[in-house]
Amino acid sequence: MAYEILLNKLSPEGQSFVIDDQTVWTGPISECGMDCRILKPLTGRLTLLPQDGGCLVRGHLSGEVAVPCNRCAEDAVISIDSSFDSFEPYPSDSRDEPEDDFDSESDEMVIRKAPNGALLFSLAGLLWEEFVLALPVKPLCRPDCKGLCPQCGKNLNTGTCSCVREEGDPRLAALRGLKIKKA
Ligand SMILES: [Zn+2]
Ligand SMILES: [Zn+2]
Repeated sequence: MAYEILLNKLSPEGQSFVIDDQTVWTGPISECGMDCRILKPLTGRLTLLPQDGGCLVRGHLSGEVAVPCNRCAEDAVISIDSSFDSFEPYPSDSRDEPEDDFDSESDEMVIRKAPNGALLFSLAGLLWEEFVLALPVKPLCRPDCKGLCPQCGKNLNTGTCSCVREEGDPRLAALRGLKIKKA
């Protein structure tokens, strides 16, 4: 995999990297079939500081992407400007441990051990992780997006539809008068 750094060769004072090769992100985006376009090129800055048992990472990710709005599926423009600090542990030596499906996610370690024992740090892997973390769980095209009409599917941001609303229902009107207490 590209952008792997040999940790054994890293200077003890740490080392910084700037990565603006878009394939670091566009590769996994198309691999997972994710609906995401890069509007402003992504740039990742990383400083790696090797420690006992792992590697300290300090970094920053910036750029702009478009993903589907959670309510209306139009473009939600997400401006990314996130700083992060993390500690990436070295892989353990216990090879005989049974493969546990439950742990399959943590198997994708940022640091892996090559057959010759060298420790490889995946800059691309870490920058992909941070990119996914920087995306909102429910992206919105705008904070007050009205979404789609549940009956006809019309985008209510662009106007109203002629579907009959249930606002006239007296039972709902009664409910509307109730105040909802926060738990
Ligand atoms: Zn929307
Ligand atoms: Zn409608």
